[in-house]
Amino acid sequence: MRLLGWLGLLFGLTASLTAPATALDREAFTIIRYDLEVRLEPGQQRLGARGKITLRNDSGQPQRVVALQLSSSLNWRSIRVDGKAVQFVSQPYLSDIDHTGALSEALVTLPAEIKPKDSVEVEIGYEGVIPLDGTRLTRIGVPEEIAKHSSWDQISPSFTAVRGAGYVAWYPITTASADFSEGNSLFEVVDRWKAREAGSEFRARVTMSRESGESPPLMICSPGGQRLIGAMDRAQQVSAECSWTRLDAVTPTFAMANYHDQSKPPFYLFSLPGHEAGAATYSNAVEPAAKFVSEWFGPPSAPVAIADFADPNSAPFESGTLLMASMAAQDSKLAGTNVVHELVHSALPSSRPWVYEGLAHFAEAMYRQQQGGRQAALDLLGLHRAAFLDSEKEVSAALRKNGEQTVVEPKIVEQKNVEQKIVGQPLAGTFDETYYRSKAAYVWWMLCDMVGDDALKQAIRKYRAEDDNNKDPKYVEHLIEAAAKRDLSWFFDDWVYQDRGLPDVHVQSAHRWKTENGLQIVTVTLENLGTAGAEVPFTIICEGGDITKRIEVRAKGIAITRVELPGTASEIVVNDGSVPESDLTNNVFKIPASSN
Ligand SMILES: [Zn+2]
Repeated sequence: MRLLGWLGLLFGLTASLTAPATALDREAFTIIRYDLEVRLEPGQQRLGARGKITLRNDSGQPQRVVALQLSSSLNWRSIRVDGKAVQFVSQPYLSDIDHTGALSEALVTLPAEIKPKDSVEVEIGYEGVIPLDGTRLTRIGVPEEIAKHSSWDQISPSFTAVRGAGYVAWYPITTASADFSEGNSLFEVVDRWKAREAGSEFRARVTMSRESGESPPLMICSPGGQRLIGAMDRAQQVSAECSWTRLDAVTPTFAMANYHDQSKPPFYLFSLPGHEAGAATYSNAVEPAAKFVSEWFGPPSAPVAIADFADPNSAPFESGTLLMASMAAQDSKLAGTNVVHELVHSALPSSRPWVYEGLAHFAEAMYRQQQGGRQAALDLLGLHRAAFLDSEKEVSAALRKNGEQTVVEPKIVEQKNVEQKIVGQPLAGTFDETYYRSKAAYVWWMLCDMVGDDALKQAIRKYRAEDDNNKDPKYVEHLIEAAAKRDLSWFFDDWVYQDRGLPDVHVQSAHRWKTENGLQIVTVTLENLGTAGAEVPFTIICEGGDITKRIEVRAKGIAITRVELPGTASEIVVNDGSVPESDLTNNVFKIPASSN
């Protein structure tokens, strides 16, 4: 696949004689501003767009050629700079960043070289169709039936839902080829893209004119600006505005269907006929979820929308404060945590993915705890563990091998063309979902265990997205330290600013003894074989009642404590699952009888 991609590139360069002989740097330009008018014709599955984009040269070299890419089912119609048509060569470019597994690439020769940091405005026009297409999955062997549940994007007369870059390039992107079959390459290309475009401004007005015989559909765009939801107006057209002053981790998405509107602003709920019971489950979840979220995170600051799928097996998707999830089934637990998640996004905007998503996933677990106890919450968190375990084990292994305690900038272990395989990701700056969702959920949970609900609530309520900037890179740490009156720099170093892998805590020894006045005591030595420190809970199984304590064990360190017992202790269990460890097989320790 990659080979074909390069052949395509070579062909393109041969055809475009003005292109430089040096390799084209597809990621040289960042699109820093989008301003698009998009028209849909669902009957023909068509999309047509025109508008302006602003490109900034983020490379170190002057650039004359830019590679603008769209989904391969869309075609470039016109590209103009300063009101004049510019020369471009259009070609297919294989890449799994799009659901079709390929892009329509325009190699554009700009009228003049663009110097590093300089920008150029380009007028564009393109059109084509967006049918259901699972090619990027089916060609690596995923059965079509399963592929369509994950690749559900389409424009169609009955149901339209289209996600942006990473799913369907319905607006231009500038990326290197991504390949599903090569490990993480696709995710690396998408993560790089998101990081490059985080500060970009995006505006698209999506419009559909009425077609004869159709009942008026509702149109939804990822909430973020005004008029996120449109209904048919007197001019017989429906439109929605998708706009953000900064994209951050948002994926611009639009949906259109004969939705039943059960919205109670700022909470918008759109369900499809036949899913009334499931929609009611969501509707009923709103009030208790909103109460919980406002206690922890404050009142909502932006509209939240949850929209149904026509196919009940479609994989759920969220972007910003829009969640798409099937309402075909009645699952009140899932509805509750889903609503909590979106409400947290509304209450706590942030440009830091680990704060924005991490807190939303943490809140799901806290809500589950409120309803079903700590174990229920830890079970929910446990579903996240596998997501980052393997890559963190790699980090731990690399750190152990280097024999140093103080790594670590992300380390590039492989460099090939523009692709870099990075081992380890500091949470503070990552655009990798497994980190900013799954690892971050654990980090917030551990912080909460360490400082307590009240201190963490206090810190969260003081959080302001506009203050979380590069002026104080330790802003979040300082908020929590001030509320908890506790030094947390070691924790933030190991878990947030650096990636130091995971802890691996076990009981090194336990000795029982009696004081002069007959009190039973056990001296416990815990050892952390891992490369990140943690405060872990441990429980002493004891006649007369189990005792749970918490203790800080730094990376490669030991911690010793004495615990008074109500009776004879038999066993010590380290970590109830709240601390992600690289090895959970060494967490139960039998206290030897001879230690009496
Ligand atoms: Zn989220």
